[in-house]
Amino acid sequence: MGDSITLEKKAYAKLNLCLDVIGERDDGYHFVRMIMQNIDLHDTLYFTLYDEEKEVADVKELITFSTDSGRIPSDEKNLAFKAAKLMYETYGLKKPIDIKLEKKIPVEAGMAGGSSDAAAVFHAVNELFELNVPVEKLMELGVTIGSDIPFCILGKTALSEGIGEKLTPITPLDDCYILVAKPPLSLNTKYIYTNLNHDGDMDHPDVDGMVEAMKNHDIKGVTRRFANVLESVSVKEYREIEAIKATMVICHSLGALMTGSGPTVFGIFENEEHAKQAYASIEKQGIAENIYITRPVSN
Ligand code: ATP
Repeated sequence: MGDSITLEKKAYAKLNLCLDVIGERDDGYHFVRMIMQNIDLHDTLYFTLYDEEKEVADVKELITFSTDSGRIPSDEKNLAFKAAKLMYETYGLKKPIDIKLEKKIPVEAGMAGGSSDAAAVFHAVNELFELNVPVEKLMELGVTIGSDIPFCILGKTALSEGIGEKLTPITPLDDCYILVAKPPLSLNTKYIYTNLNHDGDMDHPDVDGMVEAMKNHDIKGVTRRFANVLESVSVKEYREIEAIKATMVICHSLGALMTGSGPTVFGIFENEEHAKQAYASIEKQGIAENIYITRPVSN
């Protein structure tokens, strides 16, 4: 093949600092209010765009995809592939592209790894073809293949509402040490949402109070409001979630919470030594298969 251009993109994991469910749509999607924060733990995507246009019967022939992870689909079912296909179909693109995904974000962990990969593809295709599609339009396309994708396209820190498509950028979490620990189990997002009982008198997290605390750089005001209504389903089934949270609290975290539909737990630390102590203790107890010390992404 002739000339080509290359591009590398980081796809950041997200954490939910707060997660509320306020209703359900007829099609099973839930209405949420969540505070999303990108963290420095990331996948990396490598793109090569070939310069020669090709006439093909199906756009899929223009996209090649591979990944170093054996835990996710390496074909057209991958969200990164789906995002590329949608961009190619929407904008009538004809040049072949190669996408390689280096996976670091744990899979089915509540960290939106797949959505973040897809978001990186939307941005990369937009840049490589110099399409100048506005971010809002990319987000509109993104939500058709996954409800966390609009946030991942926007990035940093946001209040997410509706089914995840209504996003308001908010003040990022102040710099701190974030210990992320994923227990050795995978939770199916759909299963957790389906088993949530949100008809009764559920305690709703103080989402607005947390937004305000972030604006005031009041990190203790943020961690005091840590809440995720999906913990009621996940914690019941897996003791590791509670055990990791307890360990983080014993090691002086300001707060510890399950992210998304789980099972990953994260804790906020002001002091790096305390984060390292919690890391060591979780490792020793054998209650997590992946542990990271990371930081918020704020610029
Ligand atoms: P969320 O926090 O948005 O609920 P998650 O972290 O729980 O997401 P993911 O790791 O994004 O879950 O993966 C969910 C499912 O999507 C997996 O079953 C996986 O097979 C599939 N998938 C498709 N493409 C990808 C990808 N690029 N990375 C990870 N998973 C992918």
